[in-house]
Amino acid sequence: VTPRVLVTGGAGYVGSHTAKLLRLEGVEPIVYDNLATGNLSSVRWGPFVQGDILDTPHLIQVIEQHKPVAVMHFAASTYVGESVTDPAKYYRNNVGGTQSLLDACRHTRLDKIIFSSSCATYGVPAKLPIDEATPQVPVNPYGRTKLIAEQMLADYATAFGLRYVALRYFNACGADPEGDLGEWSELETHLIPRALLAAAGKIPRLKIFGDDYQTIDGTCVRDYVHVADLARAHVLAYRHIEKGGDSVALNLGAGHGSSIREVLRAINQVTGQDVPIAIGHRRQGDPPALYADASRAEQVLGFLPEYSDLATIVRTAAPFFGLEVRS
Ligand code: UDP
Repeated sequence: VTPRVLVTGGAGYVGSHTAKLLRLEGVEPIVYDNLATGNLSSVRWGPFVQGDILDTPHLIQVIEQHKPVAVMHFAASTYVGESVTDPAKYYRNNVGGTQSLLDACRHTRLDKIIFSSSCATYGVPAKLPIDEATPQVPVNPYGRTKLIAEQMLADYATAFGLRYVALRYFNACGADPEGDLGEWSELETHLIPRALLAAAGKIPRLKIFGDDYQTIDGTCVRDYVHVADLARAHVLAYRHIEKGGDSVALNLGAGHGSSIREVLRAINQVTGQDVPIAIGHRRQGDPPALYADASRAEQVLGFLPEYSDLATIVRTAAPFFGLEVRS
């Protein structure tokens, strides 16, 4: 029989890419999503249940009906800026929602969980690269809610005997290499989609938030990891937990940093388009450089990024912005 995995937030960005890969790997994804930000057109690899993670009785009913062997928990609110202006929403969905899900798991004895965490739980690290032993001192409400959810998971695991993998993503980006998934709006705040919108003439220009940092070219350095690599890591995490592996928290990153100007250069090389820019003020709370030591995910899961070079990231995402790929 085909094993099933409950995928909360499976209509969203990382969730939908992972649902697709699960299906290809012979696992049926049961997508549970309230469609607040997720997109129904991204749910094509298994049954869909519209529901909210805060609705514990509904979760219990769905788990009892479909009998998944594990849950991948993507459903969350994910905008750092919004978490500052509306922390209530973030504590409700990310902390309350995770507790609701864990209670539903406990009730149904569903004891294997893959959790979407974030490098935002580290805040501004004292040293680079960031390994998993780096103290977690988040600098915004979003990061705090993800840290609390991780801690809750660890406490539930100890008390109630469940096992988990917490995956701390660095900067998720790119799109399905086969072109099946990927949607962005003009409200998008992240660097690569905004730069592609600017390259495509859909917004006037990209504003670079500061070019006077102590980095290679003055712009901020981040670790950009392709969503197809994140999806692969989730499947590997599922295999790890399914065959009896211990609970663990792992960084998911490319393992190196890229500056904003390096990203813009890659866009130019791949599409032939220049990205119109303006230099703006530094964005509050932006550390100059963040990148992962991703070696533990390799040791524990055998995970190695395949798509997380800038050219491949741009090549897979550009078509969704109406940009031609030249190289
Ligand atoms: N950034 C920028 N202009 C934008 C969006 C982002 O200069 O319109 C910068 C941002 O300040 C950061 C980097 O690009 O240094 C990555 O930002 P993003 O919001 O994509 O991810 P974050 O690292 O904040 O999670």
